[in-house]
Amino acid sequence: MHLILLGAPGAGKGTQGSQLAETLGIPKIATGDILRTAVREGTDLGRKAQEYMDAGELVPDEVILGLVREALANEEARRGAIFDGFPRNVSQAESLGKILEEGGRALDAVIVLDVPDEVIVERMSGRRTDPVSGEVYHIKFNPPPPEAADRVVQRPDDREETVRHRLEVYTEQTAPLIAYYEERPVPVERVEGTRPIAELQEEILSRLRR
Ligand code: AMP
Repeated sequence: MHLILLGAPGAGKGTQGSQLAETLGIPKIATGDILRTAVREGTDLGRKAQEYMDAGELVPDEVILGLVREALANEEARRGAIFDGFPRNVSQAESLGKILEEGGRALDAVIVLDVPDEVIVERMSGRRTDPVSGEVYHIKFNPPPPEAADRVVQRPDDREETVRHRLEVYTEQTAPLIAYYEERPVPVERVEGTRPIAELQEEILSRLRR
């Protein structure tokens, strides 16, 4: 099964994608996660990507496509994958179409997580990561446990100003993909991203079973 999770940054693609990956037994390919690991490890890729990421801009398509091809070539992705944060614009969507076709693969569904902008800003500007465990918390909705409270950090691109810029980039470049896929044979399932995490997961799974 090949799924795309579409939605603004902070809509919950990462959380829903990880749970779906576990339930469906296919990997989540999250281009943002791959890039952040590269930045942390200081690789060539990380050096190329960091400036764009910190500014809330998209990393150039050719860099991203290389990552996706590599991730799909992994043995664990032979039965499919969940794309989180990719494609981000029409050109990436067209390339994904070609990559899948070349591999004899096809898209099964596009899931759109709808969340209003103001909710996104509140969610993201309160988001904190524990550099030790990698766990993601929220200062208001899901506070870190006492032992992690002093070491959690904010992603540079989760600062309010950058979040607002990322939302603009989403509206201009990524949101048009909803119409793009609606014009194609793949089912596009729109879900309310503000619902509780477990309930939303159930909703997505039930849409996939239809
Ligand atoms: P994310 O964690 O998906 O919100 O991604 C964080 C940042 O990584 C984005 O703001 C972009 O700078 C970069 N990024 C992630 N995925 C892509 C992509 N498919 N195309 C271009 N840039 C991306």
